[in-house]
Amino acid sequence: MSQTAASLNVERGCCSSRCIAFFVSKAQKSEKLSISRTRMIVSSLKSRLHFRYWNNTVCHLPRLYCQIPNRPAWDPQPCLTLDMKLDFEKAWKQYVDDFGLTQHENKQNAYILSMFPYPSGKLHMGHVRVYAISDTLARFYRMQGFNVLHPMGWDAFGLPAENAAIQNHQDPSTWTEENINEMRHQLKQLGCSFDWDREFATCHPSYYKWTQYIFLLMYKAGLIYRKPSLVNWDPVDKTVLADEQIDENGNSWRSGAKAEKILLTQWFVRSTKFAENLLKGLETLQKEDWDDVIKLQKSWIGEANGVVFDWNIEGLSSELSIPIWTSKPELLNKVEFIAVKPGSVLDVVQADKLVEEFQYATIDGEIRTFKASCPKVVAKNPFFKEKVPVFVVDGVLPFPPGSDTYMGVPSESEIDLTFAKSVGLSCKTNFEQSIPVETLCTEAKQKGIGGYPVSSNLKDWLISRQRYWGTPIPIVHCSSCGAVPVPEEKLPVHLPPFPSYDRSCTKIASPLAQAKEWVNTECPKCGGPAARETDTMDTFFDSSWYYLRYLDPSNETEIVSFEEAKKFLPVSVYIGGKEHGTLHLYFARIVSHFLYQLGKIPCSEPFKRLLVQGMVMGQSFQEKETGRYLTRDEVEVKGNQTVSRSTGKSVTVRWEKMSKSKHNGVDPIDAIKSFGVDTTRLLMLADAAPFSQRNWNPEGSKGVFNWQNNMYMLVSLFISVRNRAMSGELKPDLSSPSFIKGMQEIYSFRNRHLSIITHNYRNTHQFMVAIKSMQQLTKQLRLLPPEVIAFSSQYELAMATLISTLAPMAPHFASELWQGFLQAPGRLNTESSDIKWEKPVLEQPWPTLDSKFELPLTVLINHKEVCTTLISYEVFKSLNEGEMIEIALKQEKVKKLLNNKIPLHCKASSFAERGARVSMAVPGLKISEEDTNPSFSKKGRQEAARKRTEKKNKKEKIEYN
Ligand SMILES: [Zn+2]
Repeated sequence: MSQTAASLNVERGCCSSRCIAFFVSKAQKSEKLSISRTRMIVSSLKSRLHFRYWNNTVCHLPRLYCQIPNRPAWDPQPCLTLDMKLDFEKAWKQYVDDFGLTQHENKQNAYILSMFPYPSGKLHMGHVRVYAISDTLARFYRMQGFNVLHPMGWDAFGLPAENAAIQNHQDPSTWTEENINEMRHQLKQLGCSFDWDREFATCHPSYYKWTQYIFLLMYKAGLIYRKPSLVNWDPVDKTVLADEQIDENGNSWRSGAKAEKILLTQWFVRSTKFAENLLKGLETLQKEDWDDVIKLQKSWIGEANGVVFDWNIEGLSSELSIPIWTSKPELLNKVEFIAVKPGSVLDVVQADKLVEEFQYATIDGEIRTFKASCPKVVAKNPFFKEKVPVFVVDGVLPFPPGSDTYMGVPSESEIDLTFAKSVGLSCKTNFEQSIPVETLCTEAKQKGIGGYPVSSNLKDWLISRQRYWGTPIPIVHCSSCGAVPVPEEKLPVHLPPFPSYDRSCTKIASPLAQAKEWVNTECPKCGGPAARETDTMDTFFDSSWYYLRYLDPSNETEIVSFEEAKKFLPVSVYIGGKEHGTLHLYFARIVSHFLYQLGKIPCSEPFKRLLVQGMVMGQSFQEKETGRYLTRDEVEVKGNQTVSRSTGKSVTVRWEKMSKSKHNGVDPIDAIKSFGVDTTRLLMLADAAPFSQRNWNPEGSKGVFNWQNNMYMLVSLFISVRNRAMSGELKPDLSSPSFIKGMQEIYSFRNRHLSIITHNYRNTHQFMVAIKSMQQLTKQLRLLPPEVIAFSSQYELAMATLISTLAPMAPHFASELWQGFLQAPGRLNTESSDIKWEKPVLEQPWPTLDSKFELPLTVLINHKEVCTTLISYEVFKSLNEGEMIEIALKQEKVKKLLNNKIPLHCKASSFAERGARVSMAVPGLKISEEDTNPSFSKKGRQEAARKRTEKKNKKEKIEYN
């Protein structure tokens, strides 16, 4: 028998201290370690073993494990420097970038999606934040054993490209491609594991073919229509402007001219049809991080408490219908007038109307006057014979919120009657027989004139843009057939080369109108001469379905194959700016609901979880007197005031959105050069919750720098202590109280922190809390005595836990630390499934809690915490909701409080590694302050808060000393 084999054979009485530690670790795992029990195990082993084989044993373990060819062995340095960090990053880059892209058949799938960027050509700090978060999550899910899809692409159509093209006499596609190449290059420096094989840009014909296809599907389903609508017109630049391009004074951002409202026939998606379904869909998401966005979506969509019907206007030179919302469709037979607000479509069309002054008496008998005009048109009731007059008026009638039309029913409303009398309308008393609301709505839906439940605020989605750089609308206009959709097999309708742009002759039309050869085509229906639609689509249309294309980017016959969609949908976590919480999500949800109804995708709600992130702010310095912005180098601190170096004048210091004019922008590439990628990522994740604003202040973030250094020193310490043990300099005394105490401490540290870290990665996405916990673990690991570091299997496990849990956030640095960790001799957890000794850190399984570690199950009655019981992780992870409730009901305290009352309802929410809460509602039961769990009572909470502040102050003192 070889010496190693013999040394491991306990029965034969020859083993090593390593084996003792191993048995202790086994004992620890099989039951919660008590001091007396450990002493017993250790002494019984010691009596049978001797330690002279220690050196021989460790020599048989693989000493050096190098995951990169030619990577030199760890050579501990006195401290961690920037050069070292950059060196680690260079060495690990390829591996870190490419890791995790292979998919495995037998794994569960996760889809981690960050909102794709507009290719402006320059990465900004907001990008760094969003991708640091998404990559951290992607890597976390991989370590949890998932196949992770983490793709990247480009939201590439839009105005900036077109404006730049006009300025530089360049094709927008050239400008865009150049920017994409530049940004891809920059993005690749962030250490993100993006699947570049799935990359696409929305301006590629292979993508916009499917955008056009979705447009046609909607067109065929009657969800797309065309009608005159007002647009903003810049009379100087002779161009149509988006609402966002008009400043608060109504002036154009380009020319500064007062924008005019003009009428243009445009394309709309009947998005209001989806209001009710979208509201219902929100119910299924009402948890976790959707909370804020649900509120935004709800207020955007509004309560679907009315119906819109389109009314035809008669007496105009061209056809016009206006949508009129009402919460009382049952009164439609009694409508006697319609009112519209000044500035609305009908008002603009009828510019030559006569404004008159009218009078009415208030209830108090006071006489008031108002102005109104009556255009020479009538509105035709869509369901009854009646044709009613239209008034342009504001201020006297209660228009529904967000609506510029009003349905007047004098027979049912006092206000309407007063108005009708004031303007001289003779009101009727006999009306046509009313029609049941359901019948009205069905008829309206059939005619395509509305009839869907909707709020008065919500409007249909205007998708026409009079712009070149967008997806061409696949419609052909024929003088005899009207608007004819381009047949599917003729898709995509390619964008022609950018037409030469003669500003002086620009009409109110897209520049595409000037591409005569492209415009003139033949009608798909009759073959006669026809003209292509020259409007392009809103870029929100392009981005409303991009997440589907990543699943199957080269599919030439479908948007996405159902099979691929089934694998990854809905998106597990969607990460992006809160500013997209309204429109983008609303449109993406509409398209998803629509495609689901057609059976093209497996679910209606596209995103399971949402992580909205706040802005990254830069510190700005503004001279109080002049308002001039200064750079950081131009100011200095004198006493407790910041002043200008040159003038000595007082300066206001603020955190503001980064911008060139405020000299407070930071170039991500500069940040990476100054701190390294991993530190930049950690700085983004530490100290602020994802949804709050992130003040970019590396100088003030000593915590992250110190912590990285501490981790580096910790691994160096680990190697050196293990080497000392190997050389015989350190002797194990496994029964000493300090060793046993150390073992217990480390057992509890590791489990407690792992529980917090995992919970915050998975459930709350509060990476800052996870980082705090890792920092504490690092500190505690450094404080333990050498014999614990050398001979405790729990210590080794805790080291592995620390490095593994750091890996998703700082993949290069953790890879290097892991290499150092593997280099230490005398491995103890050789049989544990928690450490895969032959694998690099990114391929480690996510660490698990020890089975005997106890998690709290907290019981709440009527929102008050009454007791907490501890349950071992082993038991806890197999509990279902019913069993948790059962445990809660069995608690003495709960039984006493309930006093045989039966709770109205019970609910258990469990956070796998962090415990659970069981809430009970018992009507009429009063829980007094004494009955609440002392640690959770108001007093207890105040006490805990006081302690936290004390600790924080103490810590800050240390950091700044
Ligand atoms: Zn035709």
